[in-house]
Amino acid sequence: MDSMFEETGRTPLERYGEFGLIDLLTKNIRLKNSSSLCGVGDDAAILDAAGRVQVVTKDLLAEGVHFDLTYCPLKHLGYKAIAVNLSDIAAMNAKPEQVLVGIAVSSRFTVEAVEELYSGMLLCCERYGVDLVGGDTVSSQSGMFISVTALGYGQKGEIVRRNTAKSGDLICVSGDLGAAYAGLLILEREKQVFLKDPKAQPDLDGYDYILERQLKPEPRLDVVRLLHERGVLPTSMIDISDGLASESMHLATDSALGCCLYEEKLPIDTQTYQTLTDLGLLPTTVALNGGEDYELLFTVRQADYDKIKDLKEVHVIGYMTAEAGDYALITNDQKKIALKAQGWDAYLKHRNENRKNADLEEA
Ligand code: ADP
Ligand code: MG
Repeated sequence: MDSMFEETGRTPLERYGEFGLIDLLTKNIRLKNSSSLCGVGDDAAILDAAGRVQVVTKDLLAEGVHFDLTYCPLKHLGYKAIAVNLSDIAAMNAKPEQVLVGIAVSSRFTVEAVEELYSGMLLCCERYGVDLVGGDTVSSQSGMFISVTALGYGQKGEIVRRNTAKSGDLICVSGDLGAAYAGLLILEREKQVFLKDPKAQPDLDGYDYILERQLKPEPRLDVVRLLHERGVLPTSMIDISDGLASESMHLATDSALGCCLYEEKLPIDTQTYQTLTDLGLLPTTVALNGGEDYELLFTVRQADYDKIKDLKEVHVIGYMTAEAGDYALITNDQKKIALKAQGWDAYLKHRNENRKNADLEEA
């Protein structure tokens, strides 16, 4: 495997076989949630929803399309594969408790490589109190595929959907935006250097925050908990995988409303701002369209403003309007411009084209 990072160990997968490999990967799993009645080992896992509403989500990741092992260490990849699914559960205002993991690996990978992938998955499960309760393991003719299914739970009436915002609701976003895309640009730059000279050491100093945001995103379950503690039930919610502009328009469209965002309110971290400026990109464009932030975008009633206004991790960036289909951005010089789902900057264009190929029917 051509990776910018060192590899250790090299046990061919054939030495283990399917069952040996499953056992190796799952033997240390101890179930944490009372909803996990039976995990790995039978034909199916057994779960107890205990009167709660269940939410289920799945992501499928294909090597070369969704991840690049040249610069994505396997442990980070495993972590991210779980994290992005937990983010979808968080976006429903639910608590994730189980995941199932399907993997397809070719003989190009070693047992140690698959263990490394799993160590990242189990680390993320551990951090967020989630049980890995099953999966499937198959061989692949080319490349690696990872499919994660996550299950979450919530009380009836507390699951939050995309289509229930009301006109006048405040639009809020957690954390900051554009960092994951900035990190990706730096990794892509170093990959080009590496491809020309495989002995060159990647120059990643000073980019720690944005690299972490790209390689190891965190689901904002802390924000879900904070809102719950404050007694705030969002009126609609979505997680930001494709970019703020596109996700705001999702909330607005699904709720048959318009939306209005303020450029000056967009939260952008200083390292992100500096890196993007150095690369000749507009931080606002990337904050709107960069994608993979995995922050939560949600709406709250104006009456709840006092309950959230002092939360450091939550920023009010705009509001929902009654004009269905009117998606606006108020720029720093107070001009109202149309919000577009895609930035047509050269970099973004390249990326969006990749995405269109990746998410076949999404366009
Ligand atoms: P079946 O042939 O009935 O599909 P498998 O042999 O694929 O069963 O799986 C046996 C058990 O191991 C099941 O409980 C399954 O969920 C679990 N399992 C298989 N692959 C994985 C994996 N990659 N990670 C976690 N659990 C797995
Ligand atoms: Mg199976």
